[in-house]
Amino acid sequence: MKFINAHCHLLYEKRTPQSPKHGEFSWFKEIIKISRNKTPEENLEIAKKNIQEALDTGTRYIVENSFSPEISLQAMREMKISGEVAIELFSNETEEEFLHKLINQIENKIKKLQDKYSEYQINLAPHSIYNVSGVYLQKISELAHKLDLKIYLHAAEFAFEDELVQNGRFMGEDAIDFYENFLKVKLPLIRGLGGGKSSVIKYLESLNILSSNLKIIHACNCSDEDLDILKKYKIDVISCPRSNKYLNNSKANLLGMKERNIKFQIATDSLASNDSLSLWDEIEFSKKLYPELSDDDLFRSIIFNDDSSTAKSIIN
Ligand SMILES: [Zn+2]
Repeated sequence: MKFINAHCHLLYEKRTPQSPKHGEFSWFKEIIKISRNKTPEENLEIAKKNIQEALDTGTRYIVENSFSPEISLQAMREMKISGEVAIELFSNETEEEFLHKLINQIENKIKKLQDKYSEYQINLAPHSIYNVSGVYLQKISELAHKLDLKIYLHAAEFAFEDELVQNGRFMGEDAIDFYENFLKVKLPLIRGLGGGKSSVIKYLESLNILSSNLKIIHACNCSDEDLDILKKYKIDVISCPRSNKYLNNSKANLLGMKERNIKFQIATDSLASNDSLSLWDEIEFSKKLYPELSDDDLFRSIIFNDDSSTAKSIIN
């Protein structure tokens, strides 16, 4: 029996000292500060330690989202775990020429990684609508289609994403301080949508990037209408229930997804927002959180194939 952890960031080692109750942006700052202070050697060790924990709890395939894909790939190879690495991408820039160059660099990087680590799939992970501009998301989507890659996108995770698509910009001091003073980058601006009826999923649809190669991570804040859109474009969801709880986010509507035949996978996310990388722990938590789902529904979401007899034999 093999488990797949469909969403992880192996370079984060443990929860940050800052409680997310003080606000998401201070939590982001803490994570970034900790990562900035690590050497490549330290990051490699952290990744290997995390992979060991995954292996010890039955995981044999990891979908890693990494800001340092070389290090993640090296760790995965050394630890002999299967999987794929999605390169994390961040930029709120909208200038054509700049993004064109960036996309060329990414394409070259992908080719190099594919050559060097041919046993692993390389994919793309534009971080989120608040860290990647709309026009950049469109260019990443074009590249993904050209190279036949998957895209992993954190979306509809935090309530502030809805405010962003509705107002077109961040209004809160903490967000503005995070981008302008801490990251020293442009504030995200969302164009073309507005009003109370918009949503993160509708915004993504308006960018024309919805297709079955896109995987939505979290999808906590999705209305029935949003789920209908995901179904229409045959988009899978990756849900991380313990991480969502830790970050005070809403519970994803997995039953609504099941009713629409939207495939969902349950994953751990990273140790920055979770106690462990054990899928057993994640399922145990999910069983309590989702009494409306069967054991079969839950186990199906973490095993390699849809063989429900395997799931039954685990439960019994
Ligand atoms: Zn994540």
